[in-house]
Amino acid sequence: MIVSLHVATGAAAGAATGSRLTSLFVGPILHLAGDRIPHRDIGSRRFEIGSGLLCLFLLAGKRSPLDPATLGGLASSAPDLEHVLPFLRPRGGKLFHGRYGWHRSGRFATQVQLLLAGAIIGGLIAQPKKGDSR
Ligand SMILES: [Zn+2]
Repeated sequence: MIVSLHVATGAAAGAATGSRLTSLFVGPILHLAGDRIPHRDIGSRRFEIGSGLLCLFLLAGKRSPLDPATLGGLASSAPDLEHVLPFLRPRGGKLFHGRYGWHRSGRFATQVQLLLAGAIIGGLIAQPKKGDSR
């Protein structure tokens, strides 16, 4: 699944649970579940990193860096770091995307994934936080 949608689904889960610990724990599981959906990926690593970071910055800026949604987005997208950081794959093996990963390729179009990610992130940063309206 594309990085920005990993961020978005993790953030949505984090916002739903409202718990920092839970969102950090659930994030990587959501990543596996998301990659399990047969999907297309974006070939441009630069776009993937850029759009993922943009989503995280928007969440951190509009909510807060330690908001459960921001942490959930971070935790859910973090497993993709093993694609770019060699020290995360000792002996060359990837943990989330290797032999034991659930990564599947298929028909879930990148445009639809991007649209979904944008809609979810947009909703999360537009929605006033609980307690703000008091
Ligand atoms: Zn992945």
